[in-house]
Amino acid sequence: MNYIEQIHKLGKNLGLSNLAIKEFELNDNVISNEEFLIKCLEEEIGYREEKARLRRITAACLPTFKSFEEFDVGFQKGINERQLKQLEALTWIDGLYNLILIGPPGTGKTHIALAVGNKAVNMGYKVFFATMDNLIHILKTHEISRKSASKIKWIKQCDLLIIDEVGYLPVSKIEANLFFQLITLLYENTSIIITSNKGFDGWADLLGDSVLATALLDRLTHKCQVLSFADESYRLVHRKEIFDKEKDNNKTTKKHDPDIDTGE
Ligand code: ADP
Ligand code: MG
Repeated sequence: MNYIEQIHKLGKNLGLSNLAIKEFELNDNVISNEEFLIKCLEEEIGYREEKARLRRITAACLPTFKSFEEFDVGFQKGINERQLKQLEALTWIDGLYNLILIGPPGTGKTHIALAVGNKAVNMGYKVFFATMDNLIHILKTHEISRKSASKIKWIKQCDLLIIDEVGYLPVSKIEANLFFQLITLLYENTSIIITSNKGFDGWADLLGDSVLATALLDRLTHKCQVLSFADESYRLVHRKEIFDKEKDNNKTTKKHDPDIDTGE
């Protein structure tokens, strides 16, 4: 066994995964023993951090990639550049603040929630994303499904829980209770982002119980930023179609065809 094989074997025995497979560059750049050891240890830490980041990405279950850079703050009057920067800084997660995004469909609520989620995962936070419907399913099945049980276990460890589309589908009394119990459990331990098409006054109807809705909102809004997104749907304004716009093409042809009297 040569030296490199020995190092790989020792690395493996010690659980130093990077050292166990590291390819050593044998060149003339002479570095001291200390420098060499520091380099090996730093690489090991980098390797572990990257593996942990990839594990956090998988566990977060973010459905698509959205970033702060892609968000057109000029389009959405419900948030300004300065507030967007503050959200992006993520210090509010350390302060255990919640974020509630309310507004009609297509106004960028999920975009912001996903941009926060993505940034948070990359910055080392543990995140979990679920739609309300999905979360209720997990809560209802965690005693009989191993998959749901492991998700609940992860949610309890998370720094940030994102619950998307609260209010789109009706919830039963039992489901509302399960949701309330989860929020109570996470209260003052985990930051929560909620996106909803319903204002707070619609929550009693949504949960079918005004006392429960009040108690839930009391916990959620204790340390919380509420953003109301209004205006037009970004989806509708920036709607993309398969076919060329015939009308526009005709317009262009007419304008540039001297034989056609456009009456302009
Ligand atoms: P909501 O969750 O409010 O229904 P989404 O966040 O899903 O809306 O937004 C719908 C689509 O429009 C997404 O593809 C999103 O990236 C895009 N979008 C919405 N608002 C903006 C914005 N201000 N800048 C850039 N893209 C936006
Ligand atoms: Mg949405």
